[in-house]
Amino acid sequence: MEQYGQWMWKDGAWIEPTDANTSIMTHAIHYGSGFFEGIRAYHTEEGPAIFRLREHLERLVRSCAYYHVTLPYTVDELEQATMELIERNGFEACYIRPFVFLGTPWQALMPTAETKVHVAISCWPLGEYFSKTVGIRAKVASYRRVSSTMMPMQAKAASNYMNSQLLKGEALRDGFDEAIALDMNGNVSEASVANIFLVKGKTITTPSLDCSVLDGITRQTVMQLARDGGYEVVERHIGRDELYVADEIFLTGTAAEVTSVIEVDHISIGGGVQKVATEMLTRYREAVTGQLPEHRDWVTFVKSA
Ligand code: PMP
Repeated sequence: MEQYGQWMWKDGAWIEPTDANTSIMTHAIHYGSGFFEGIRAYHTEEGPAIFRLREHLERLVRSCAYYHVTLPYTVDELEQATMELIERNGFEACYIRPFVFLGTPWQALMPTAETKVHVAISCWPLGEYFSKTVGIRAKVASYRRVSSTMMPMQAKAASNYMNSQLLKGEALRDGFDEAIALDMNGNVSEASVANIFLVKGKTITTPSLDCSVLDGITRQTVMQLARDGGYEVVERHIGRDELYVADEIFLTGTAAEVTSVIEVDHISIGGGVQKVATEMLTRYREAVTGQLPEHRDWVTFVKSA
């Protein structure tokens, strides 16, 4: 359990990771009623900097709300707990996982007013999710992204990740690094745990939110950074064909940060050029470490232990 540091926060108490157990008689385990966030804290000279903490926690509240689940803690309380968690564990940089799940009573499909809403926050060191040096190879997945006519895809709900597992699993088994999913209408949607952007000249295009796309916080960030850098940023429906003739493709996400896709379905994208992706990654790294004066409010500093 060393990777999790010494402390976790669960239901308002500080516990050791080895005590973070739950019974299999739990609603979330049987019916998938879990909601979570993925946040990163970055090392800076001013101490660990948590990137867009409040926006992540507000999304967690919204994710729960889609399913009529009310969090027993305020965003302020969760913010404080997250900062103290990093301070207590003494991490300079880490990945942070706030997690909400329904406990007992669990036997019936529908949770009741008595069903306990648990909240836990843990953190652990996390390096690069994808190597940034070479870029990755992706395939268009045979499974589609779940439609918001079936489940609210703006909710970062644990159950959505069965779809993500199918997408990613197929890609890995077929020798690729990542999957690109289409939505129910055949438009480009997103990767398994990251949003997608296409570059054509000075225009950067990303699927609009009605394409079963999570409203990624890195997506919002990169759109802003691109506009700051003089690019035109467009959100619209993107056809599959457009992937193959893009100048560049990159993925964005808290884990993935900004990662170039250099090949889709064995077709080289723009001859492997990663100019815009590299520029965005550089700007992103400045943003997450509080080096962009105009975006300092994106960063919450934790005083080093
Ligand atoms: N789409 C999905 C399905 C994801 O799981 C993630 C990761 N949270 C993203 C997009 C990117 O979101 P963010 O930039 O907020 O991490």
